[in-house]
Amino acid sequence: MNAIDFAAALADWYRLNARELPWRKTRDAYHIWLSEVMLQQTQVTTVRPYYRKFLQLWPTISDLAAADISSVMKAWEGLGYYARCRNLHAAANQIVQEHGGVFPRKIEDVIALRGIGRSTAGAILTFAYAQRHPLLDANVKRVLTRLYDEDGIVTKAAVERRLWHWSQTLLDGAADPWTHNQAMMELGATLCAPKKPNCPRCPVKIECLAHAHGTQRERPQKKKRKPIPHKHIGVGVIRCPDDPRKVLVQLRPPEGLLGGLWEFPGGKQEPDETIERTIARELREELDIEVTVQHHICDVQHAYSHFKVTLHTYWCRLDSGTPRARVAVEWKWVPIHELTHLAFPKANRAILEELIDEA
Ligand code: SF4
Repeated sequence: MNAIDFAAALADWYRLNARELPWRKTRDAYHIWLSEVMLQQTQVTTVRPYYRKFLQLWPTISDLAAADISSVMKAWEGLGYYARCRNLHAAANQIVQEHGGVFPRKIEDVIALRGIGRSTAGAILTFAYAQRHPLLDANVKRVLTRLYDEDGIVTKAAVERRLWHWSQTLLDGAADPWTHNQAMMELGATLCAPKKPNCPRCPVKIECLAHAHGTQRERPQKKKRKPIPHKHIGVGVIRCPDDPRKVLVQLRPPEGLLGGLWEFPGGKQEPDETIERTIARELREELDIEVTVQHHICDVQHAYSHFKVTLHTYWCRLDSGTPRARVAVEWKWVPIHELTHLAFPKANRAILEELIDEA
């Protein structure tokens, strides 16, 4: 493959076909960093309103660093993969403390920030500071495995090394790294789509080995996925004995799945256990209380990347004990109409809507 011809054909196509995206009109490293983090595993249409909202709420890195993490999590609510949000806030604080609030320019300093890997660092430095760094995000990986008809499994280290090498080789042929990197991402996000690549319209089809071999749809090779487990979760909504307009919610620990979000207590159903028993047991284990499980509120289905859940949700009456957060960071009684002020995972939000309708 001639890298100069390749890059020229790709850049010409990009100039005529690129989508207008707000983060492509700026050279502000903070704005670009925000967009890059939000776009990880998330569609452009989903990201747009969040990107706008964050910049309105926190126009500078220092504003974001000074914000309370709970308000940042609340603003992120619904965007998913919440570790990104916690890392963003932590990295903003790192930038304030270590770089005077100015986004760093050296790649090693950027990679040292929480939640930023080599590809994201390369993207920010290319798009903000016109530096020349290869990228390897999910879209670029797919394009490269097809261009070179790579049949190894993409998560293998040796395959990843080859992909970085090809990313660098093609970038070396480009006159303008900003356009080249944007164009590689754009090609992956539009024509070189995961399931149905639009090869007839592709500007680099004559260079593409997978197209020549008819193997586009088999690239990238992925490990065979195990069947996705389905967990049944019993969830208890406990009314406050002193004020029945309030219910109990607890704050998940900062690390791990859905870390730093509020939730209704509960947990996984064991084999041969009724869901009512699950709820009573989980609330005993998590909060050190005894409850009577009362009537059913709703069942909520939700799919995460590696498993699916059904949240079987019931009203509960507190019979004895004073709640004690054994697993959560804290718990509190909150009026139902004020629950929307807290950041909840998407599946819990569906419960919350049921409660507001019932109230
Ligand atoms: S020819 Fe098809 S498979 Fe190859 S890069 Fe273009 S869109 Fe992707």
